[in-house]
Amino acid sequence: MPLKDRRVIVTAGPTREWLDPVRFISNPSSGRMGIALADRASEVAGKTVLIHGPINSDLVTDKDYRSVGIESTADLLAAVKGELRDGAVLIMAAAPADYTPAKKSDVKIKKKGGNLSLELARTPDILKEVSRMAAEGEIRDLFLVGFAAETTDIEQYAMKKLNEKNLDMICLNDVSRKGVGFGSDTNIITIFKRGGGRVSLEMMAKHDAAERILAEIQLELSGR
Ligand code: C5P
Repeated sequence: MPLKDRRVIVTAGPTREWLDPVRFISNPSSGRMGIALADRASEVAGKTVLIHGPINSDLVTDKDYRSVGIESTADLLAAVKGELRDGAVLIMAAAPADYTPAKKSDVKIKKKGGNLSLELARTPDILKEVSRMAAEGEIRDLFLVGFAAETTDIEQYAMKKLNEKNLDMICLNDVSRKGVGFGSDTNIITIFKRGGGRVSLEMMAKHDAAERILAEIQLELSGR
């Protein structure tokens, strides 16, 4: 099935893991790369859904696709599962928190003398869970795209994630380089494909990078 007949689900932005009613763990993801991908997907795919964490709401107003807001990584997994259909393309451009407080306090944690230790529990790995669902036949004909933002040994990590999470494609950005990644308007991406294909993009605006990534997805799907 070509991209024009498929549902594209894009995730964007950070997640928020609350410790108590007034504090949370998060990261500086702006959601811009995911929004650029959803914008482009809405021009070339059958249907587009954006699932985003807490981001500036101006970034998602007046779009011609549906967007769903979530807070935690657990919420994100539930929303992704709710939107998945046979034949979907899932692009995980979100930066979900990998850890959440093991215990959440219903009341504000009071400060005391000395240090405070926080126990953190792992959050679900959404791509791994979705690829397990695909492997076990719960969802058919999925196309899975991951992102990797790394600062060291970047290519090895990207290849490892492609294999471990059983992805069709991974987009690597080296966030140690200037003008790249979190909060920036530009990105330098290398696309690694299952089976060994590789496409290096020069530094470009996130909406141009999104166009190139969707073109590569379209190319891969034309062979299916
Ligand atoms: O956090 P990590 O570097 O493993 O992220 C790589 C990819 O996995 C990204 O596409 C990210 O959206 C996805 N991810 C996920 N579930 C998580 C953490 C990351 O699907 N809990």
